[in-house]
Amino acid sequence: MSSKSLNLRFTAVFTGIFILGAILLSTATYVILENSMRRDDYSEARSRLLEFWATYRTGGLNLVRSELSFERMVMEDRLYMVRIAGAGNNTLFVFLPAQWVSYNPGRLETLSYIGEGSIIRLPSREDRSALEVSSLRLPDGNILQVGMSSKRRIEALARFRRIYLLVFLPLSGLSLLGGFLFSTRSLKPIRQLIDVTRTIIDTGRTNTRIPVRGSGDELDELVTLFNKALSRIDTLITGMRQSLDNVAHDLRTPMTRLRGTAEIAMQGVDDLPSFRAALSSCMEESDKMLAMLSTLMDISEAETGVMRLDRKLISLTGILTDIADLYSYTAEEKGVKLTLQKAEEIRVTADLNRIRQVIANLLDNAIKYTEPGGSVQVSVLADEDRVRVEIQDTGSGIPAEDIPRIWERLYRGANSHSIPGQGLGLGLVRAIIQAHNGEVNVRSESGKGSIFSFSLPVRS
Ligand code: ADP
Repeated sequence: MSSKSLNLRFTAVFTGIFILGAILLSTATYVILENSMRRDDYSEARSRLLEFWATYRTGGLNLVRSELSFERMVMEDRLYMVRIAGAGNNTLFVFLPAQWVSYNPGRLETLSYIGEGSIIRLPSREDRSALEVSSLRLPDGNILQVGMSSKRRIEALARFRRIYLLVFLPLSGLSLLGGFLFSTRSLKPIRQLIDVTRTIIDTGRTNTRIPVRGSGDELDELVTLFNKALSRIDTLITGMRQSLDNVAHDLRTPMTRLRGTAEIAMQGVDDLPSFRAALSSCMEESDKMLAMLSTLMDISEAETGVMRLDRKLISLTGILTDIADLYSYTAEEKGVKLTLQKAEEIRVTADLNRIRQVIANLLDNAIKYTEPGGSVQVSVLADEDRVRVEIQDTGSGIPAEDIPRIWERLYRGANSHSIPGQGLGLGLVRAIIQAHNGEVNVRSESGKGSIFSFSLPVRS
């Protein structure tokens, strides 16, 4: 569904809710108003009825008559119909204001009931109003009836309806406009999301970002996460491109050497020993390339989670002792003092060969980057759920700007010139440790030395 149709739906829902709310509210107001006006009219008629009842009791029909003619003079706007009938409902007296000729009080005589305690409605012949008559029996058995027209009430309610429509129609338009503006504004990030996604699909450029509005709502969160995902994808793609460039670059030198050796051998004299020597250096070069490619594959497998780990309970102290033994000759040869801090037996569930690879790489680096006369110290610590191996050297240390990048594949630091290596050791270390749910860490100061460490959960 396009954002346009979503926009229309939001607007329709917004306006629909507004209109429904307005209709419900006005209907309730109308019903309450109508009831309360009707109650007022009835109670006024009732009090008039009681007044005339008292007047009749005091002075009979004559007093009622004179009172009415007096009222007609002073209260021209508030009018009543008054009827006095005999015990058999035969009209004795009827007073009907001149403006009310459309009502027919004569009909009261034809009714079989007098409607004491209720209201008799006599509809008008001209409009929708009615004469609302209340009745009471007089002490002498006659009947007193007072009627009031509902015209004023009907007119007031019609005015209410007209005013309501006058207000309701422009307000509905306003709510439609408001709903449209509101939903357009709310959906702006979604539209931007669509535009950016389309640009990425069309151009393949992942460096576009959507501006965050800073409102802190869910859409803002979505935009922030989308931007973060884009940054991550961007970093990964850049990393992959760089790796590919580096691999191509790093393979070119041994490939050229390989070809050069073969070419020289081909152009030389037919001499078996020199052919053998050329073939053996070709094998050496291709072994290096194979080793590099296999390490790159290992890193990729570990990073993408497809590396098969043969997890077993292994003795970390045992592995450290073995590898330290193995490297003691290299260290001795270089004049570097290698010590392993003895600890009690520490066991961990992990892939033996992979952990050997990690320790060997770290130890190899420590000796490689330490000048003769320096020292390398290996230690291992454990608490209830984690073990931690630390390899500390007094070597060249790493320049601060290199530290964040040394774990990248094929990255070699500024201190690595003239030191052999391919820049893959630490990449593999990090990938293997992370595949074991562990963490790698480095603290280093240029010129003073480094401490590389990794920690593993005891049961990974
Ligand atoms: P390589 O050692 O083959 O260059 P690594 O991936 O093992 O590749 O290391 C990456 C970079 O980290 C090295 O080029 C070097 O700059 C730095 N480095 C690693 N270990 C040490 C160390 N113990 N002391 C100083 N620098 C180190």
